Amino acid sequence: MTRFAMNGKVYLVGAGPGDPELITVKGIKLLKEAQVVVYDRLISPELLKYVNPSAELYYAGKAPGRHSLNQEEINELLIQKAREGKMVVRLKGGDPFVFGRGGEEALALTRAGIPFEVVPGVTSAVAVPAYAGIPVTHRRIASTFTVVTGNETENKEEREVDWEKIARVGGTIVILMGLSNLPFIKGELLKYLPATTPVAVIYRGTTPSQKIVTGTLEDIVEKVLAAGIKHPAVIVVGDVVKLQGELGWYSPSALTE
Ligand code: SAH
Repeated sequence: MTRFAMNGKVYLVGAGPGDPELITVKGIKLLKEAQVVVYDRLISPELLKYVNPSAELYYAGKAPGRHSLNQEEINELLIQKAREGKMVVRLKGGDPFVFGRGGEEALALTRAGIPFEVVPGVTSAVAVPAYAGIPVTHRRIASTFTVVTGNETENKEEREVDWEKIARVGGTIVILMGLSNLPFIKGELLKYLPATTPVAVIYRGTTPSQKIVTGTLEDIVEKVLAAGIKHPAVIVVGDVVKLQGELGWYSPSALTE
């Protein structure tokens, strides 16, 4: 097939939270058609089986000890491949516009004159609690949920997360990227919420290695340390966590990979 020299297109595709079956139908269709795929660390490796063997595959994640691209380089790569006239899929964990810098990539593309489309994904902010048996809302328990980044430390000069406001909303708080900062977050929330407020920390939710630790604002840090929970994890704060015992439906150990 001959192609005219013209701009390609970039699809920012949500890969879902981990379980490879939680990608959208549209996402799979585009993965199969892509000539270039640029993927992140948190996506299920199983999704790469849909990629055409002749497609160019680039890893853009940040894994310790492995060369990874910085954000500038990722933007450049997407622009360059689209300028070669290629159909590019940028495969991102969860939903492309929920953290993970999808908005920045879209801006870089549009400013470079590259057409793009966004294919929303199932975000870990909702799906990871769901697989742990925690509904983020419940008619009598929580009528809001707030999704917040936990990666701002006490040392950050201009803090954008106002924990007081978030605590005062009164519903469920879902914290992404917060595990290593949990002691600080706990300290902030304890200023405004009771020590008995239920908390769940879910590691690698929706995958066979899913682990759940539940506790309270008071004891969650110790419990997480004792359980050896690592990144990536979603932290859920609020009374909906109490439903986990009754609603925990997913048993990863029963699955064989
Ligand atoms: N765009 C993504 C979020 C990117 S930020 C989305 O919509 O899901 C990365 C954070 O997502 C991690 O630090 C962790 O808090 C959370 N995360 C993503 N996948 C996860 C998983 N399978 N289990 C637990 N946390 C996960």
